[in-house]
Amino acid sequence: MHIPSLIEQKRNGHALADADIRALIEAFTRGDMPEYQMSALAMAIYFRGMTPQETAALTQAMLESGTRLTWPADAPPRADKHSTGGIGDKTSLIIAPLLACDGLWVPMISGRGLGITGGTLDKLDSIPGFRTQLSEDEIHRCIRETGCALAGQTATICPADKKLYALRDVTATVPSIPLITASILSKKLAEGLDRLVLDVKHGTGAFMQTEAEARALAESMQNTAAHLGLQTVVQLHAMSEPTGHAAGNALEVIEACECLQGRGPADLEDICLELADAVSNSPREALRARLHDGSAWAKFQQIVAAQGGRPEELENLSQIHRAEVLHEVKAPQSGLLTRMDARQVGLAVLHLGAGRAKATDPVDFAVGCDQLAKTGTQLRAGDVLARIHARTPAAAEEAARTLLDGVVIA
Ligand code: URA
Repeated sequence: MHIPSLIEQKRNGHALADADIRALIEAFTRGDMPEYQMSALAMAIYFRGMTPQETAALTQAMLESGTRLTWPADAPPRADKHSTGGIGDKTSLIIAPLLACDGLWVPMISGRGLGITGGTLDKLDSIPGFRTQLSEDEIHRCIRETGCALAGQTATICPADKKLYALRDVTATVPSIPLITASILSKKLAEGLDRLVLDVKHGTGAFMQTEAEARALAESMQNTAAHLGLQTVVQLHAMSEPTGHAAGNALEVIEACECLQGRGPADLEDICLELADAVSNSPREALRARLHDGSAWAKFQQIVAAQGGRPEELENLSQIHRAEVLHEVKAPQSGLLTRMDARQVGLAVLHLGAGRAKATDPVDFAVGCDQLAKTGTQLRAGDVLARIHARTPAAAEEAARTLLDGVVIA
């Protein structure tokens, strides 16, 4: 294999053969293809795209770069959902226990937040004692005990994706449909799933700004998954305003706990039920009943305990993670709230310290926003639009300005 010729081939807009893609990914995983060559190839893919055949070959090669979770023949069906990121999107924390209550096994491998989008692992890390870095053996143990494991990528699952994602992140090659498709699906295929629902977001708070871009990503993922034998349902969801009323790590766990006890905001409960319904055994009404009869909540507490967390602390998260400054952002005028821009809320929360600029930065679990008003609400001047949890008054004021830049009251 002559790597520069293959980069040139892609740079000139020609398709790569399956065997060449496999050889490139193998060489990169072994350390025999330097990062500068992989960066150049990623940029060529970013500009030239990939055919469905190439995308499937890349996904398969990334999957085969590591191990795959395997399950006994008589095990319950494995199901999972993946969201392509968003603001205030705590749906994984609700859907995973809900599906586990439904008799499914949910080996959910999630990521950390980057940029303005939050990450499930960062949210879970705000639960005292909860461990998200599980070995494959531990994932199997948790699944056997509770039907669910909420874990990060292990060292052995899709190592090619781990290396390539880190490189894409610093070479401006993240927003590429074939690269996103291969990255997400290789990890989902490694979970050994039978059913997958993909929640592709579009709007100001999403990777994909327009519905057309989201549809293109959704089609790429659905076709690739079908090619590789995984039954997948794709749903498109708007991410123009945050999901629920809270954005920020512990604040989102608190809201997820409310939803698991049947007290969640309507938009959050609705999207969770719609996504869960796509892969569950039971109808939507039965799933809804589990959010209201305590069974999903009991399951979540069981999952927390199985992963080293202290479920009794779930009710105390607002005391455990307490930011010094609470600042109410008030509506400057009366009228109908027509915009609460997800990107502006995401930026405000990021700058408060809840997110990170690079993968190794620490996150602050306590900061963020809650009591976020929903569009469609009739407001009076002085009503609360959001409550900011900040470390300093100056940080709270900056976050308020950022948030207000995304508010329209008509
Ligand atoms: N999440 C992933 O895991 N990979 C991507 O490429 C984008 C989002």
